Amino acid sequence: MDIFDKCKGMVNQVNRAHELGIYPYFTPIESAQDHRVVIDGKEYIMIGSNGYLGLAADPRMKEAAIKAVEKYGVTCSGSRFLNGTLDLHVKLEHDLAEFYEKDGAIVFSTGFQTNLGIVSSLAGKDDILIIDRYDHASIIDGCRLSFGSIKKYRHNDMEELERILKSLPQDNGKMIVVDGVFSMEGDMANLPEIVKLKKKYNTRLLVDDAHGVGVHGEKGQGTVEHFGLMDDVDLIMGTFSKAFASLGGFVVGDMDVITHIKHTARSLIFSASMIPASVACVLKALEIVKKEPERRKRLWEITDRMLKGFAKMGLDTGESNTPVIPVIIGADDACFAFWKALKEKGVFANPVRTPATPPGRALIRTSYMATHTDEDIDTVLQVFEACAKEFGLI
Ligand code: PMP
Repeated sequence: MDIFDKCKGMVNQVNRAHELGIYPYFTPIESAQDHRVVIDGKEYIMIGSNGYLGLAADPRMKEAAIKAVEKYGVTCSGSRFLNGTLDLHVKLEHDLAEFYEKDGAIVFSTGFQTNLGIVSSLAGKDDILIIDRYDHASIIDGCRLSFGSIKKYRHNDMEELERILKSLPQDNGKMIVVDGVFSMEGDMANLPEIVKLKKKYNTRLLVDDAHGVGVHGEKGQGTVEHFGLMDDVDLIMGTFSKAFASLGGFVVGDMDVITHIKHTARSLIFSASMIPASVACVLKALEIVKKEPERRKRLWEITDRMLKGFAKMGLDTGESNTPVIPVIIGADDACFAFWKALKEKGVFANPVRTPATPPGRALIRTSYMATHTDEDIDTVLQVFEACAKEFGLI
């Protein structure tokens, strides 16, 4: 038996998708990641980006990156722990802690590494991690890397969460870890209820707000602010790759906990730090998040139009009430064919299938940016209506 034998199965699947013209992955984009993108020389409306505030091509962001490169060069050539900490990283951590009104913050090189690091450094062998079945892969992998035990509850099922919490031994350390906004279906965690249960059963709570930061709440702090729970959630993590238009991740919370994570998270200690240009972009984005609430307002207007537009057509958008809006298609093949039809009509979206969705619930994941124009939105709705009719969905 050759360990590489299994690769042939994947190659066959990929080749088959290419032959059918429905291979949707690793598409090379030839322009900035804005509301319109260029692929193979042709312009598409982009509704597959996580750049919610539309900052990827903002001149102020570009200038911040260029200035950082001029001063600090292009890399830190090492880990935060040793030679890779710049005064710029320290300033970002200071500004994040202040923005979240928390004691401390630490930044990682990606959002994925942030979850790996937090969860595996906090959960030791007698600890228990309680997670939603739809939590992001980085949380699941963080749990697997930790020595703690894992309990999963059905998606957003608060009765099952309580049943699990009630059954756990009182003396063990416990932490609930949950997405603020679920990344594929755009629905929100029931944070008010989770906080009630966390208090009742004396557990800690980590919220992964990758899709909430910069988007939700009056100040843009995210879903925790949206629900008025800033004093009730122990740790908030987020990524810089979405609303903040950069790369990296962070966690904010009590200084003791941040100090522990900082000195034990292997994905931080054994990996090179965020590059200067990325840090400078986050600092600029944070400034824009604070100063330009109109971007959030515009994003929510667009979200409202899309949710209402899809509902009027009779399309199934699950429980989404955020700028991440899925259109449920069903079978994997139909989903890829639907994706292809959208693309042929000038719209770039993301097809999502198992294991990222439950079997039979393949979907087109759409997501919106503050920079989408009214014309973009009108076109996207028209194109969806035409494709949905063609596929007998409506
Ligand atoms: N958490 C959630 C909920 C996410 O959706 C993502 C990215 N899709 C991550 C963490 C990882 O973030 P990053 O891509 O910035 O590494």
